Amino acid sequence: MSKNYIVGFPRIGEQRELKKALESFWAKKIPFDEVEKVASKLKKRHWLYQKDAGIEHISSNDFSLYDNMLDTSIMLGAIPQRFKQLEGEELYFAMARGDKNSVAMEMTKWFNTNYHYIVPELSPEDNYIANSKKIVQEFNEAKDIGIKTKINLIGPITYLGLSKRTDGGDTYEFLSKILPIYEQIIKEISLLDNDIVIQIDEPIFVKDLEPKVLSLIKPTYDKLANVSLHVKIVVSTYFENSNEATKILVNTPIWALGLDFVHGEENLKSLEIIEKSGKKLIAGVVDGRNIWKNDINKTILLLEDIAKSIKKDDIIIGSSCSLLHTPFSLKYETKMDNEIKEWLSYTVEKLDEISLISKLFFDGLDSLEDKDKIALKNNKEANLSRRTSTKIHDKEVQNRVKNLEKIQRDGDFKERIKLQREILKYKDLATTTIGSFPQTDEIRKARREYKNRLISKDEYEKAMKDYIDECVSFQDEIGLEVLVHGEPERNDMVEYFGEQLKGYGFSQNGWVQSYGSRCVKPPFIYGDISRPKPMTVDWITYAQSKTQKIMKGMLTGSVTILNWSFVRDDMPRDEVSKQIAIAINNEVDDLQKAGIKIIQVDEAAFKEGYPLRNSKIPSYEKWAVENFKLCVSSAKEQTQIHTHMCYSEFNDIIKTIEAMDADVITIETARSGNELLKIFKKVGYKQEVGPGVYDIHSPRVPSVEEIVKQIELLLVVLPKEQLWINPDCGLKTRKWEEVKPSLKNMVEAVKIVRERLK
Ligand code: GLN
Ligand code: ZN
Repeated sequence: MSKNYIVGFPRIGEQRELKKALESFWAKKIPFDEVEKVASKLKKRHWLYQKDAGIEHISSNDFSLYDNMLDTSIMLGAIPQRFKQLEGEELYFAMARGDKNSVAMEMTKWFNTNYHYIVPELSPEDNYIANSKKIVQEFNEAKDIGIKTKINLIGPITYLGLSKRTDGGDTYEFLSKILPIYEQIIKEISLLDNDIVIQIDEPIFVKDLEPKVLSLIKPTYDKLANVSLHVKIVVSTYFENSNEATKILVNTPIWALGLDFVHGEENLKSLEIIEKSGKKLIAGVVDGRNIWKNDINKTILLLEDIAKSIKKDDIIIGSSCSLLHTPFSLKYETKMDNEIKEWLSYTVEKLDEISLISKLFFDGLDSLEDKDKIALKNNKEANLSRRTSTKIHDKEVQNRVKNLEKIQRDGDFKERIKLQREILKYKDLATTTIGSFPQTDEIRKARREYKNRLISKDEYEKAMKDYIDECVSFQDEIGLEVLVHGEPERNDMVEYFGEQLKGYGFSQNGWVQSYGSRCVKPPFIYGDISRPKPMTVDWITYAQSKTQKIMKGMLTGSVTILNWSFVRDDMPRDEVSKQIAIAINNEVDDLQKAGIKIIQVDEAAFKEGYPLRNSKIPSYEKWAVENFKLCVSSAKEQTQIHTHMCYSEFNDIIKTIEAMDADVITIETARSGNELLKIFKKVGYKQEVGPGVYDIHSPRVPSVEEIVKQIELLLVVLPKEQLWINPDCGLKTRKWEEVKPSLKNMVEAVKIVRERLK
């Protein structure tokens, strides 16, 4: 029996074919037909992968040329006014990316993933109309190759919950407008076949919903599940438990509930009521968010546990969420260490796991064919090897975590800052930057050639040092006060450290879609983490040797490193992060011993790791603060610790930020004037703050007057003694032609303000 299920499948293609086609089309190198041809080919290939693996429930409408939320806006006819004169692909990509007349729609992260969706813009004037073209077309494409798919839709409550209204009103007020469109779509789908499954994704049900929103669930699903007798509705949630919604959904006529038992273990509490309702349960037991081989023995135990409450007949085995969040196939990982590769499982390998688990669970060991028996044996061996391999387990590292003594630095902020200002002698409104300078083609080329052994270590180092020389002398010349080396040796703020830490792995082809055609290749933590040798000291001390001014050392904090990696699942996250924090801590110490007086520990992704459930926030915050403090606990009182975060909205987390106890924090407020800074004043924040005075995300060069004005706005909220002046993020994505005049203007503006303050 193959009662199994895939929530959704990645679409970018195993060789990123879709990315390449889209980008060629956008560059006007190929016509749209070509993109469609590639898309068709990929869809077919992806369906066949699933079919061949023995998957019963395969989706259509999980494909997208850009994003499924955007597709849903098209399905509903929710087109913002400024795009209304467009149609077809022109309309679609203009909404996603903007065009010469109109700015793109906003994009933001999909729950706690690194996938970004296009935020629907709804206006009270809109009249919605159903458009089922894409849905019908994909269903028929699959049918043509003999596969009857289930059809994936994003549910109305999630859609509205993630939308914004042009007039600032409550998006849920539009439910009565869009629900008839959903009914219409379901009706049209029901005509496609006598018996059809529709998966309606409602991941918003895993959040803490207000009673008002919860009250929408029953009427919505009473309606949608009653549209047609030919249609079976699955409501699918993921990334957390959805217990409150489950309680309501069991009293609606839906056919099945899809729940995540990997990231929402608490869903187990809902089994009894699901059983009573007689609904099917799609049990998400294979992790769609990570790259580790499933431990099939353990999964079977979990399923047996579930089967104590729910009849086996009513269980379907699935992925925990769409496989969109995992890379495609291990077959292209030709350079990876074989032992490590044995521990991994990407999308295609997960299909086999799900298939095997379902055979084993429903039919038992004896009924397995030989090839399945071998697969099962391999799975056992891989999991065993992970438990014992010396590549993973390092007693010394584990002991270091166990015997942690110094978990925070000496002295409180007031004493520290006095000492620091005596030694560092910077003025009020001290100027600095966030770390990186433009990544030019030359430095990218040098890094690439060194990696591919086309140039020698000496040649590479010379190229980097030349660039550092340039950065340092430029900063010196224009009169910046705290300098940086410019980060030419870093491709990425996490990868750079990952590459130097033991226990970190890198893939060749582990691409995961981030947004549109853009993919990222997160590194992965497979073993105990240690730092074989200093990672940044040579570069920073070299840069310091080139100037009399203070050179700021530049590191990435453990919370960000963890949030941007695939993390091992055989050890508590907290322990993994402590291992990383110790490595960073040692680096801080080596830097200060080498004479570096200011060290910045970036926590760009601090806020991204926030849990989906409010009840879990305090423990996340506690964990994150402890980690940051551990990273810098080796800093002497006179060593000044900076941190940088890519956010401007601190209202909810200001106390946590304060508790991190950094001497200086630089943040991203440039686009919001001083509005968002008021919270710092309100809570009586003591530490120093560098609110970005201009936006680096745009190529525009800010004028001196503009920056003066911005600084004066900041001074309304915080006293000059507490303020630093800097751009709002690193400059690596900008060009020198933009960076040079911008920073000059910034320094000039500070001079003017200081003069006025005299
Ligand atoms: N130091 C890093 C840089 O300047 C910080 C980047 C970031 O916050 N995303 O590039
Ligand atoms: Zn930033």
